[in-house]
Amino acid sequence: MIPLAIPNLKGNERRYLSDCIDTNFVSTIGPFVSKFEQQISAASGFSETVATSSGSSALHTALLAVDVKPGDLVICPGLSFIATANAITYCQAQPWLIDIDKRSWTIDPSKVQEALTTQTFVGVDGLPVHRKTGKRVAAILPVYTLGTPADMDAIVEIASSFHVPIVADAAAALGSTYKGRNLSELGTALTIFSFNGNKTVTAGGGGAVSGNNQKIIDLVRHLTTTARVGSDYDHDRVGFNYRLTNLQAAVGCAQMESLNQYVEKKREIARFYCDAFSDLPGVRPFPKPDYANSACWFSGFVLENGDPSGLRKELRNKGIDARPFWKPLNLQLPFSDAPRANLDVSEYIWSRIVTLPCSTGISDDELGIVANSVRQLILAS
Ligand SMILES: *Cc1c(COP(=O)(O)O)cnc(C)c1O
Repeated sequence: MIPLAIPNLKGNERRYLSDCIDTNFVSTIGPFVSKFEQQISAASGFSETVATSSGSSALHTALLAVDVKPGDLVICPGLSFIATANAITYCQAQPWLIDIDKRSWTIDPSKVQEALTTQTFVGVDGLPVHRKTGKRVAAILPVYTLGTPADMDAIVEIASSFHVPIVADAAAALGSTYKGRNLSELGTALTIFSFNGNKTVTAGGGGAVSGNNQKIIDLVRHLTTTARVGSDYDHDRVGFNYRLTNLQAAVGCAQMESLNQYVEKKREIARFYCDAFSDLPGVRPFPKPDYANSACWFSGFVLENGDPSGLRKELRNKGIDARPFWKPLNLQLPFSDAPRANLDVSEYIWSRIVTLPCSTGISDDELGIVANSVRQLILAS
């Protein structure tokens, strides 16, 4: 099977892992953790980064750090990985689902504006309150879908006019830019990354919270370290054991050395499929908004005039790991009663998408096999 997206471990991973064992630093203390944090800051432009055990724990602590409280709402797109909405629920808050823009598959700023304008009033602390539920809107959580930043200038303008902080889920977007600016220059309070095994660079598992405000980053670090004060088992609130280990960071450090090369490869793969299918009827490439240079985390296409599940199955029968993509959050059992706007675009994309093999280690031969198989199956249908 030509796999969908697997790790590429051809750099210094083995050497750095051996260093951990040789030095006995395998847990949350060790030189690779801070080195990894510095590499993430350097790549994204942020001044501060806290490495965490996962993208999910990064999201959880980032939301807590911007003061999301039990009973609040957090605006997020209808199309995302379930971790985005889970993290909101870990704060005992609830997602408010807004549709994506079909030109970027990221949250549609005009729909965020419309929801806030028509369905909220200004509460006592200055934050919007959702009329129907009486819940405070404590944050906006845009997702940089497929490694493409959301339309952040528009979102920041709305967020600031409603005095709502932004936490960006940039899980797979390290290496992307927006209007030529790095991720640190987009106006978010905090931005999170994931280093899960299927991301472009991985630490086996892991995540990070990045930002430019020392105080808020210190709070994130505190929350991820069991809210420990000093070294004598003093803790000033209920914190979390969310730190990354030196073992994971060792892999992460080696991976970050290849970030630019891997992101370039992801972009090449996206271009290759786009060109290979450009003449196929009803096949639309993933969106490429002008404002962004996407990190092109995943590749594939949308089958405009039908259900692609048969095609995905035939590709898998031919040894090509073609898959669906995120099921919209409103269709997930835990979030079926979350407040939501119309989510037609999210549901449409989900019902039509095919993701294709896009590991950074994929060979030209394998890309050719995938492209030819897709072409044959579609032209024969
Ligand atoms: C991968 C991913 C996450 C979750 O990260 P984990 O490290 O798996 O917890 C969250 N949001 C998005 C959009 C992702 O792609």
